Amino acid sequence: MKVYKFGGASLGSVDRIKQVGSILRQEQQTMVVVISAMGKTTNALEKVADAFYNGNQQDALNLFNLIKESHITTAKYLLVKTYNKTLDELESLFTEVEWLLHDKPVKEYDYYYDQVVCIGELLSSVIVNAYLQETGLNAQWLDVRDIIRTDDHFRDAQVDFEFTRDRLTPLLINASPTFYVTQGFIGSTDENESTTLGREGSDYSAAIFANLLGADNLTIWKDVEGVMNADPNKFTDAVLLPELSYAEVIEMSYYGAQVIHPKTIKPLQNKGIPLLVKSFINPALPGTVISKKNVKGLPPVKVIKENQVLLHLTSLDYSFVGEAPMIFLYNLFAELGLKPNLIQTGAIGVQVCMDDKPGKLDQVAVSASGVFDVQIEKGLSLYTVRHYANGGVNGVLEGRQVLLLQQTVDTVQYVYR
Ligand code: ASP
Ligand code: MG
Repeated sequence: MKVYKFGGASLGSVDRIKQVGSILRQEQQTMVVVISAMGKTTNALEKVADAFYNGNQQDALNLFNLIKESHITTAKYLLVKTYNKTLDELESLFTEVEWLLHDKPVKEYDYYYDQVVCIGELLSSVIVNAYLQETGLNAQWLDVRDIIRTDDHFRDAQVDFEFTRDRLTPLLINASPTFYVTQGFIGSTDENESTTLGREGSDYSAAIFANLLGADNLTIWKDVEGVMNADPNKFTDAVLLPELSYAEVIEMSYYGAQVIHPKTIKPLQNKGIPLLVKSFINPALPGTVISKKNVKGLPPVKVIKENQVLLHLTSLDYSFVGEAPMIFLYNLFAELGLKPNLIQTGAIGVQVCMDDKPGKLDQVAVSASGVFDVQIEKGLSLYTVRHYANGGVNGVLEGRQVLLLQQTVDTVQYVYR
């Protein structure tokens, strides 16, 4: 069994979906095909959820209409025999959302976000599945909400692996080779509410499938050649990395490399399942192989994470920042769902760099104010260079003000303005 994942960019046009078909046509064994929403659909659905929650019902419906039209257009250009049947399926998914949009919001924002945004993956997978069937492949569509069970932590739902494993077992006993086409990024609670696993979470869904099915490997098909040592849009000297270890990738992605969702690696590492990152435009290229193998002599791996804040916390009564204040801080971060990217402690002060999450930082300031004086600096970036000894840090920091620096033998990180 293999698992393939196609991201939004691989599904962004009729030609690209046809290319997905031609990649799958090379395969003879049963596999799970995990699909993202098409192109920028998730961003567009976020706007629908926002408008709805802000009480702009008509705007929400208008924005949703644009999404409907673009999916219907794609289906129209792609499908012939199965078009009418597919249109019915799309319509019933549209209705799920419209039914909700006609109501008034009475629950929390994150709940509505998930009910609206999850539709992107459902729509794209219905269209892709129909196309595969129409071109003669034995494709079968699965609503992942019947498989991936999560808690009700909307927008960042945690997966119940036990329940999900039981749901997957029947897939393993299907005799004839089948392409199971399903959705990334989404799941469902035990009360049948839709949930999402965090933006860009389709990679993680694919890794969950690979783990629970004991897959031979997982391939993530992307619109780039493979994993590079830096974002080629920011670094003209970026090079492809043919091999990487799980540890390297988890560090890169955690610090902001856009290659793979940071949660993807753990389920694969736990079962020793290799991850291949390949170009769907040119499948003959080798791409990047990520495995447990320790890869030596890597060039500097450079990652810039934007939209950072730096919290300066100083203990009010000049007591040392020991265990109790740190436990207090970590509990507070956990409660608010905040994850520090970098922490540096001194005698009476702590500095914490993290993603700017609107609203949450004010809550930190208020809650911590009994223990710490809290200063917040916004609009910063975090620049991480791994293996800096193999080639240096280069021009990113020229003309910038560095506010915090942290260095180990292998990795250096700068918080700068
Ligand atoms: N469609 C979702 C997003 O754009 C999930 C994904 O692409 O992985 O965040
Ligand atoms: Mg995506």
